[in-house]
Amino acid sequence: MRKVLVLEDEENIRSFVVINLKRAGYETVEAGTGEEALALLRQNPEVKVALLDIMLPGIDGFEVCRRIRAMDSKIGIIMLTARTQEMDKVTGLMTGADDYVTKPFSPAELTARVDALFRRTGDAQAPRTLDELWQGPFLLNLRNRTLEKDGRRIKLTQVEYGIIRLFMENPGKALSREEILDSVWGRDYFGELKIVDVNIRRLRIKIEDDPTNPAYIITVWGFGYKWVIDRETGGAEPAEGEKEKK
Ligand code: CA
Repeated sequence: MRKVLVLEDEENIRSFVVINLKRAGYETVEAGTGEEALALLRQNPEVKVALLDIMLPGIDGFEVCRRIRAMDSKIGIIMLTARTQEMDKVTGLMTGADDYVTKPFSPAELTARVDALFRRTGDAQAPRTLDELWQGPFLLNLRNRTLEKDGRRIKLTQVEYGIIRLFMENPGKALSREEILDSVWGRDYFGELKIVDVNIRRLRIKIEDDPTNPAYIITVWGFGYKWVIDRETGGAEPAEGEKEKK
């Protein structure tokens, strides 16, 4: 989940920020005061990045930043500074902020900064979080939508990612081609089941040691496919079945 806290007392600026973050695919939590922001952070531990305005009623943004750092060292913090307050960015960085954006900022500038911070805080986090599925030689990162095999990145299309995610969330389960089509392409997709087979074939070329004798994506005849992560049993099972190549 990509959740951002937005602390800004001016409602029009706050909604401008929130709308643009949502458009960029983020979820948001909104606060108008520092006290409120700190309370919301305690209720929403999954927030990974906080945008903090400085001039606020009650405690100011620097103080919020200090208090956040006192309870969470990993969260990414971006200060929203006014152009006239050049010292703000220095003070902000000294109180533990990671970055700052000067008002007025463009939506593109803001989301670029948030994206960058998400990538960095993602890297700094303890590995193997719930955002990752780790099976056999495969590591699927659900946040970045990436797949690694033995530590090497495998480039996937969005559809291939959708299929591999479905498989890894259902290890050992036979999935019908209809199920795969519904889950990955969506229920309102009016296509042929064959598209599933075409994508599976391409996926096998990318992830299997020997695509003609797949060990991970096993064909279940007359039905669909199954994800198997045990190399030994997986390798033997499909040998006869996979001879049919259409
Ligand atoms: Ca303000």
